Amino acid sequence: MASLSSELKSRLLDNLKDTVGQQHFERWFQSIDLIDDGQNTIEIPLPNVYYRQWYERNYGVLIQKALETTLGGSYKVRFSVSANSNGPTGADGQMPLFGVGPQAEGETPGEPKPVMPAPVETKETPRCELGLNRNFTFDRFIVGSCNRFAHEAALAVAENPGKAYNPVFIHGSVGLGKTHLLQAICHTVLDRNPKTDICYRSCEGFVNDYIAAIQAGKLEQFRNRYRQIDILVIDDIHFLGKGDKPASQEEFFHTFNALHNSQRQIILSSDSPPQNIPNLIDRLVSRFKWGVVARLDAPDFETSTAILRSKATLGGTDVPDEAISFLATNISTNVRDLEGAINTVIGLSRATHRPIDVSLAKEAIKDIVKIGAYPITFETVQKAVSGHFNLTPSDLQSKKRDRTITTARQIGIYLARLLNPYYSLEEIGNAFGGRDHSTVLYAIEKVKQRISKDKQFAATMDILVNELKKSVA
Ligand code: ADP
Ligand code: MG
Repeated sequence: MASLSSELKSRLLDNLKDTVGQQHFERWFQSIDLIDDGQNTIEIPLPNVYYRQWYERNYGVLIQKALETTLGGSYKVRFSVSANSNGPTGADGQMPLFGVGPQAEGETPGEPKPVMPAPVETKETPRCELGLNRNFTFDRFIVGSCNRFAHEAALAVAENPGKAYNPVFIHGSVGLGKTHLLQAICHTVLDRNPKTDICYRSCEGFVNDYIAAIQAGKLEQFRNRYRQIDILVIDDIHFLGKGDKPASQEEFFHTFNALHNSQRQIILSSDSPPQNIPNLIDRLVSRFKWGVVARLDAPDFETSTAILRSKATLGGTDVPDEAISFLATNISTNVRDLEGAINTVIGLSRATHRPIDVSLAKEAIKDIVKIGAYPITFETVQKAVSGHFNLTPSDLQSKKRDRTITTARQIGIYLARLLNPYYSLEEIGNAFGGRDHSTVLYAIEKVKQRISKDKQFAATMDILVNELKKSVA
């Protein structure tokens, strides 16, 4: 028995990454061991039976296919339970939340939990009938500190419906990604099992169905339908509290109970947490809190930048960093506004045949947002950065080269460039002690690299950027 050679391992893992996508790969495959038993079987040691069941059920066939493709037809996969195995720990080295994996942290081993009842319908649930937007998938959802928890909860339930927390309640104001996450769950569930009886409906749709059923004398059919679904996903549940809807609330209450009692998954979104939905009956408020309640916040600077970059790339347009930073600095309301802004910028560029730069971006969004009276000055940046490092602004302008001062100076240079795209490299160099153009570029590159490699450093930068933005708001 020996670990698979690194060349074969990386071929196999690359193949799996292509099939399952980056997120699932990082979570489930990045840190697994692959052992060649010398008899054409690749063994994957896992820490307990829960993991083994999970892998067999969800990835057995897929890994087998990847083995056939990369190592040849005669290889088989075997999952073994080994006390020495740490198992997959996810990209962040943590056990996944909510027992996404087969055993939540701290649980004692025991019998596997019950799985979802088999779907009643055997035909596939067409996505268009459900009204799903095909772009609202997990791989198009950018994760940042503003939405990490909600994303984790959504992913958990998509991977393990009926076994993670029930219900999942995602709330946040308009344009922050509630519908995107709910539909991403639907897509993932259907990708894995196209026959799942899943219902995605806006709350208004649910209420309309209910009223129509009463009018047509078909309440029985309505109840049979809604109370036997495997997974019920209701978007904008706060609609139940709008106006006077006691009968609809009562009906939803019974629907909820019927599904919950039979371990069917319920997923809800709302513009506010359960207790803040006006007129919602207490029984529903308390039930909505039974599972996990996760909030979406407005995107921070780093997430806004990543979202803008991703939207530009998906649209096949090359947008320079400066223009992206400019938009991220000036639009902090919600993701929908970010999308609107980048589309407007790209549209203006195409219509006028001008390349995208900061001045075009500024022109494009002038009617959408009030651009702050420009803007973050060298003075503000140097004050914030030196304060953070217990230095003085004059340290950053000096020729001193000890480590803390050099790091702080590089961060200051990076932030000045990021937050004020109007400064030229020369101006930045002058403000930081007469450094030349190439030193400025070097500092920017150095900080960028560290942000991409060091999570803690990236978080510190995020805090600094947000503080600076607030200071001029
Ligand atoms: P809500 O339902 O909360 O009002 P949506 O889910 O409709 O918001 O999101 C608004 C737009 O922003 C959609 O086009 C969606 O794809 C996009 N969006 C929201 N959050 C993200 C994210 N984290 N990454 C990428 N796109 C996002
Ligand atoms: Mg929505």
